[in-house]
Amino acid sequence: MKTIVIGSGLAGLMAAYISKKRGDDVTLLASGAGTLAQNSGCIDILAYTKDKTPVTSPREAIESLPETHPYKKIGIKNIEAATKEFLSLVSSYGLPYCGDLDGVIKVSTPIGTLKSTSYVPYSMNGAALFDAKKIVIVDVERLKDFYGDILRDNLTKHLPQGIELENITIDLSINGARDVSTIDAAKRVDLKEGFDKLVEELRPHAKEGVVFLLPQILGLRGDKAYKALIEVLKTPVVETTCLPSSVNGMRLVRIFCRAFSDIGINYVENTRVIRGVIDKSRVEAVVAKAMARNVKYEGDKFILATGGFLGGGITLESFNNARESIFRLPVWMPEGEKNWSNEKLFGSCPQGFATAGIMTDNALRPVDRHKSVIYENLFVIGRNLGGYDLFFEHSGNGVALASAYHAAVQSVK
Ligand SMILES: Cc1cc2nc3c(=O)[nH]c(=O)nc-3n(C[C@H](O)[C@H](O)[C@H](O)COP(=O)(O)OP(=O)(O)OC[C@H]3O[C@@H](n4cnc5c(N)ncnc54)[C@H](O)[C@@H]3O)c2cc1C
Repeated sequence: MKTIVIGSGLAGLMAAYISKKRGDDVTLLASGAGTLAQNSGCIDILAYTKDKTPVTSPREAIESLPETHPYKKIGIKNIEAATKEFLSLVSSYGLPYCGDLDGVIKVSTPIGTLKSTSYVPYSMNGAALFDAKKIVIVDVERLKDFYGDILRDNLTKHLPQGIELENITIDLSINGARDVSTIDAAKRVDLKEGFDKLVEELRPHAKEGVVFLLPQILGLRGDKAYKALIEVLKTPVVETTCLPSSVNGMRLVRIFCRAFSDIGINYVENTRVIRGVIDKSRVEAVVAKAMARNVKYEGDKFILATGGFLGGGITLESFNNARESIFRLPVWMPEGEKNWSNEKLFGSCPQGFATAGIMTDNALRPVDRHKSVIYENLFVIGRNLGGYDLFFEHSGNGVALASAYHAAVQSVK
């Protein structure tokens, strides 16, 4: 079967990977990089219910979601199968993740708040912080977007009493006069002299009971630097999440790119799909805008992973009139203007506008307002889907993975 995937955020990357693994001939078309390189790469499955109650077991909380939520259409078995595939992929490319659907993992942000998530690389699992005698918070000279003092003050509020916190600033000898990003520092740590300098700076503080809390600087190449560091220091080391661009998001992008070249996915970058070629209720092809001319890509199955409003997959053409950009699919929005938003941006219920998206049947094919399937061989995934507010409930990468898997395993006539 010839499968065309449109969009290379986490949803599109995963859909292309699973489709290829199942034997499809896959072409992935994307106009840009997607949000993965900006996000923490933590797989949030579901951290809050609709009244902002913190979730302790995503598996149980998913049961109580409304039927319109993407997870209810996908089903818990497929969500579990998707996470298994993801865990196996990242582990085989040198970045094993921990986590499951029955509990939550706490990770520290660069400002010392604790975020609940479901799957993280071992280097980001914050569990060791709770067992520390002393936490050494490591700042790097000239590093931007990491505030050790604020981190310490906030973190203290979330940890058991009696844990000592100390701030240190290390010098990684990064050349140049400008501010340093976590990506600069991670690239430096990937080099032998950068890694050796990191060890030299941390070693005097490595004592029994100490846990190091570092910005996300332990290399872009999987968990190599993390493993080597805990080996030489013989103390736990924890990375925080980071502000965009994210080192861990980039680690994941690299893994997918390596897997694609190993298994043979035709990945066409910098290509904007502008329209579909339709025959009755089937998509026959899509047309993409390339440098010199338009190119037509024919297929048996199409997976739409264009990222909703944020990714450009959905646009607001005029007030109250949102449209999907390629196939002109209808976009569901909460009825009544007053239900589009609430005044409190970070309040205790989802934002209506954030739940807007394309509605589908249980196989993730787009439906009209009478719930009739529009195109039988088109599947909608990731942030394009309606019925959930990923920023409120913390479910972005979880829905991306699960919907990608679910769409990839659907057969078409
Ligand atoms: C700053 C930030 C931080 C986040 N942090 C987290 C986090 O920590 N944990 C978590 O679980 N989730 C997080 N999320 C949410 C998460 O990034 C997404 O919800 C999830 O990965 C789904 O993305 P997607 O693949 O559907 O869309 P996107 O990542 O937006 O990808 C869309 C893709 O479609 C392409 N595209 C769009 N239109 C076209 C077209 N016409 N032709 C070709 N290509 C097209 C784009 O170029 C892009 O490649 C975060 C999001 C943001 C913005």
